Amino acid sequence: MKKRVALLGATGSIGKSTLDVIRQNSVAYELVLLTSHKDAAGLLALGREFPQVPLALSGADQEYQGIAYWGVKGLLRAIGECGGDIAVNGIAGAAGLEPSLAVLNAGMDLALANKETIVMAAPLVLALAAEKNCRIIPVDSEHAAIFNLLEVHGRDELDAILLTASGGPFRNYTKEQLASVSPKEALAHPTWNMGVKICIDSATLANKGLEVIEAARFFALPPEKITVVVHPQSIVHSMVRFKDGTVYAQLSYPDMRLPIQQALSYPVRGGASWGTLNFDALTLEFTKPDTTVFPMLPLAYEALKKGSAYPVVYNAANEIAVAAFLENRIPFLAIPQIVSQVLDRDWSVSPTIESIREIDSQARATCRGGVAAW
Ligand code: MG
Repeated sequence: MKKRVALLGATGSIGKSTLDVIRQNSVAYELVLLTSHKDAAGLLALGREFPQVPLALSGADQEYQGIAYWGVKGLLRAIGECGGDIAVNGIAGAAGLEPSLAVLNAGMDLALANKETIVMAAPLVLALAAEKNCRIIPVDSEHAAIFNLLEVHGRDELDAILLTASGGPFRNYTKEQLASVSPKEALAHPTWNMGVKICIDSATLANKGLEVIEAARFFALPPEKITVVVHPQSIVHSMVRFKDGTVYAQLSYPDMRLPIQQALSYPVRGGASWGTLNFDALTLEFTKPDTTVFPMLPLAYEALKKGSAYPVVYNAANEIAVAAFLENRIPFLAIPQIVSQVLDRDWSVSPTIESIREIDSQARATCRGGVAAW
């Protein structure tokens, strides 16, 4: 029997890669829902390719011909009604949290590319998954690698996680050089082909910061057991170290179709090949991240250590600051400064499903104040 797949964020970068995986494995998978935030034309084109699949446009405030569900409420209803076995959540940012909860509430497994779901609400989401007997399989490439490595080696003797980072487009820049970088320069990622927001996060290392929080919370390790290693080639997707000192790594070319396929086929391994590594001329470099030039990384550790609502605030403030940078309203180096100011407030409340949206809004409003005052 085919696995029924709901694809959330079908017109984005993860969505496109997922569609490739499904086209290559059409005997194994059947789409049951395609959603997009605002790309009506892209979604309708997919509707022509997969005519039997219902479409949902979450960013629409009115009905569209040919689109069965619209608005956020429509998206959540579509998830509840689609009857999928597994959902790929490729929605960008905090907007991905409620759809993740809807997926689990509908009893579907969750192939999770939306790291904000874990960053913002790990305790709530993991408890809901356990209650509904659903699996969460990480699709973020680093976490997918760690997940696979722990599947093979177990975690009894696990000592630490070594999270690799490409270093982004400004890896060797000084603070002085970063002062004048433009959104266009920040959008040119050296190894991964990704969406706009994650590109900026990769340039500031906020993406790695979010991933540190994601890894600590998903794999239940304290912050000091997660180490970031800069690895510019993006071939080693992450590593795990055991107490006897052995390090295991997962290697492949950087291609999101691989972790997506692994999540869809889990617990079985199978499907198309996405490239064989050529070791004839392969250089792998590893260095330490410069936390003074890229303060978004230490700020993430701080938010993780403080716990309660701080990770929610780190994410929300960063989303607002990144949007302001993309609109040329603040310089690149203002992103960490403004986020740091927002985190300096008191956010020591434990978020609940009900309060998380409110905390997120407060953090965004505080950050908008910081942007306006810049
Ligand atoms: Mg990643």
